[in-house]
Amino acid sequence: MASEGATSGGSLEDRISKPTEAKPDEDQAKASFTDGASETLNGSKLQEPEYDVEVKLSDLQADPNNPLYSVKSFDELGLDPRIVQGIVALGFRKPSKIQERALPLLMANPPTNMIGQSQSGTGKTAAFVLNILSRLKLDTPEDQKTPQALILAPSRELARQIGGVVKEIGRFLDGLEVAMAVPTEGKRPPRLEASVVVGTPGTVTDLLKKRIFIANKLKVLVLDEADNMLDQQGLGDQCIRVKGMLPKNIQLVLFSATFTPQIREYAAKFAPNANEISLKQEELTVEGIKQFYLDCADDKEKYNVLVKFYGLLTVGSSIIFVQTRQTAAEIERRMVAEGHTVASLTGGVEGSKRDQVIDDFREGRAKVLITTNVLSRGIDVSTVSMVINYDIPELHTPGQGRKADPQTYLHRIGRTGRFGRVGVAVSFVSSREEWQMLMDISKYFDTHIEALQTDDWDELEKKIKKTIKNPRSRADYTSTAQ
Ligand code: ADP
Ligand code: MG
Repeated sequence: MASEGATSGGSLEDRISKPTEAKPDEDQAKASFTDGASETLNGSKLQEPEYDVEVKLSDLQADPNNPLYSVKSFDELGLDPRIVQGIVALGFRKPSKIQERALPLLMANPPTNMIGQSQSGTGKTAAFVLNILSRLKLDTPEDQKTPQALILAPSRELARQIGGVVKEIGRFLDGLEVAMAVPTEGKRPPRLEASVVVGTPGTVTDLLKKRIFIANKLKVLVLDEADNMLDQQGLGDQCIRVKGMLPKNIQLVLFSATFTPQIREYAAKFAPNANEISLKQEELTVEGIKQFYLDCADDKEKYNVLVKFYGLLTVGSSIIFVQTRQTAAEIERRMVAEGHTVASLTGGVEGSKRDQVIDDFREGRAKVLITTNVLSRGIDVSTVSMVINYDIPELHTPGQGRKADPQTYLHRIGRTGRFGRVGVAVSFVSSREEWQMLMDISKYFDTHIEALQTDDWDELEKKIKKTIKNPRSRADYTSTAQ
């Protein structure tokens, strides 16, 4: 089937890919990322106070070149009215480009696989959730207890966030139950009795094996952050194993902001004959995210600069990304000593303790989140107005020296600038080599990363505040959209 949703008023290119033949060479998929990714849920409860804004969401959505642009309304997408009601209750007025283009392809029958790409913060979650909700059969109590769709995500936090989105959008669907399949300390029920299951690959594998999760009626499998899910050694193997335990003819849906050509090829084998929506590398950066870098003499200065930053800037919430747990612990210790309330979440924190940390951040009890790549993907907290790359994200390819990791950079900075909001990303460099890595990233995405000088703090503050003070950084700016 070949439907080309919208005229190409922008950069998304739909193309129908019928990968000629899937070579069983799965090894190609292995190259890159260091890390996991994640998102959270309920991030942005959109509220409605009136603010005067310079650029409104409605303006962005009327610009054909913007990824939030759409021709149609949600009403015209053929959704169940109760689902549309759920969308309206969330404050969504118009679909984004990926939603408008992916949904008709996703919802068509017979179901076709999809590999969908769209910039960070453009509403990929709702795109795959709407398809799932549209396909659920919830007529009898038996139906309601039968898993019909599975969503896999690379982190516990992202899985929880997506679970929340399913519940929110589906709140007017009677009998909708969502089960979480993430590590838990408590006792498991003997069965997952829900129509939608959201989880991380390891726990899902375990529950399938133990027959707690009965998957014989499953119709849809979604991999969010699909490139990461298929690329990382451990995760990739688990995803393949999970797929092997599911019915053969289910609809496979892969979404991410990034797919390297190598991963895309692999993804096309995982999800054969998929409709593909793809972006070019230089289309990936989000306009609302202003990118800076700060030259520091050494590690010590990096820390001093960080402290100064937080003495200076108090707007909104922010995330500090570091490469290792040790650095996270060290920064946390020092920031706390300076009197900041911080949340710190790394792979070293386990189970429900992690929920507490991310919820503290989501709900604003902690304004600063220190984390590693484990939260580089997917987390959606609309109040985040600044992302700091305390360490430049790098790939760990044995024997190849230090190499920048452009994908992780993009996902990290994408934790701000959600759905048309503005935000600032500041990367710290403390050596020539790191500067070069950052320039490689800038070249990769064909984007400008502006230098900030540490010898003129007034100027630095002005530059950052100019972006952060923009009304579009407010969590509630969408309210003025038409
Ligand atoms: P992505 O997965 O593409 O990075 P998300 O699905 O996390 O983005 O969505 C980013 C934010 O945009 C979320 O807070 C979500 O509630 C919001 N959002 C999604 N679709 C719409 C829409 N059509 N109108 C308004 N806000 C939306
Ligand atoms: Mg997402």
